[in-house]
Amino acid sequence: RKYQKFGLIIGATGIVGNSLAEILPLHDTPGGPWKVYGVARRPRPQWNADYPMEYIQCDITDPEETQSKLSKLQDLTHIFYVTWAKCTTEAENCEINGKMFTNVLNAVIPNAPNLQHICLQTGRKHYMGSFKEWGKGIGFHNAPFYEDLPRLNQPNFYYTLEDILFKEVAKKEGLTWSVHRPGLILGFSPYSMMNILASLCVYAAICKQEGEPFKFPGTKEAWNSYNDVSDADLIAEHHIWAAVDPIAKNEAFNICNGDVFKWKHFWKILAEQFDVENGGLQEDESRKSLGEMMKDKGPVWDAIVQEKELLTTKLEEVGGWWFVDFVLSIEGTLDIMNKSKEHGFLGFRNSKSSLVSWIDKLKCSKIVP
Ligand code: NAD
Repeated sequence: RKYQKFGLIIGATGIVGNSLAEILPLHDTPGGPWKVYGVARRPRPQWNADYPMEYIQCDITDPEETQSKLSKLQDLTHIFYVTWAKCTTEAENCEINGKMFTNVLNAVIPNAPNLQHICLQTGRKHYMGSFKEWGKGIGFHNAPFYEDLPRLNQPNFYYTLEDILFKEVAKKEGLTWSVHRPGLILGFSPYSMMNILASLCVYAAICKQEGEPFKFPGTKEAWNSYNDVSDADLIAEHHIWAAVDPIAKNEAFNICNGDVFKWKHFWKILAEQFDVENGGLQEDESRKSLGEMMKDKGPVWDAIVQEKELLTTKLEEVGGWWFVDFVLSIEGTLDIMNKSKEHGFLGFRNSKSSLVSWIDKLKCSKIVP
């Protein structure tokens, strides 16, 4: 097969990396045919084994390993950077995530003479501040967010990544960049550090198994407010658009589905999909965080996996409780998609259909019952 483009996905088993790995090799993907290389830290999982992608197991925190494995990819034309590391403080986030990105760029830029474009995924914390600083009132912008808002005056690893990107592309003539800022992502990967949907499906399955109602673990503000989400396939399409369309070069863009929802409506759909009683909002003092409710449920999940013949996963892998508790504790935020539209990206998703189709995919792939 004669390829037109050669793409490297860093984080190929993650929530957006998985969508990129599925979409890039398709025969009608813009700019194609694409040859796809995918990097992730763990051995290749069964659920993405049949994607036509060259899988490279590599720990990008290690500069020598990254140099030895990625400097060989001399045909690369595009990098899709969709990964991150979670550290305890934002200063550590900046340091570690900055090193990971630098290790990749140091291995690829000097060795891939045809490298044309780098897509960097960050997110809405660009406007809201890091998880630790969120809501402390130090300059947190008012939603809806748009791309030209100034940076917040606090450390943020997204700013570190952008600054590394700007510095590195400036060293090579003709090399371009784009930054992609999704909100909360709906997608498939059971290897993602922040997959709210997979976590909620696992929680619903545990409620069903134990005959308990599916209670909303969050606050009234989260339950009642307008919110938006970003479909992982839509984000992948947005990356690919920016990778090939000259109008999208050297710009940062928000990327969300383009409609709104409320958790109180999504909760009903989730309960229906798992045939469990909708326990709704807990307004009294007895409300517990999901982390607290799930702390002893490892054996229950193991029993579900065995009974329903699911792919083997551990509860701590598929249940990102800290992230769900965080998202469902705050009032929803919205962003504005005008800049992408004005630059010619008209993609959108119906968030309700997106919710149901990702649940279907999680069920069909035997991640949840
Ligand atoms: P993810 O957690 O879903 O996936 C991470 C991927 O990177 C996995 O394939 C993992 O194997 C790989 N990886 C992790 N550490 C690695 C290492 N040391 N070496 C090699 N591979 C490694 O990622 P994500 O959620 O798509 O995050 C990408 C960016 O998107 C982050 O900046 C994140 O903050 C942002 N974001 C995520 C969400 C969300 O809901 N998940 C929402 C908005 C923004």
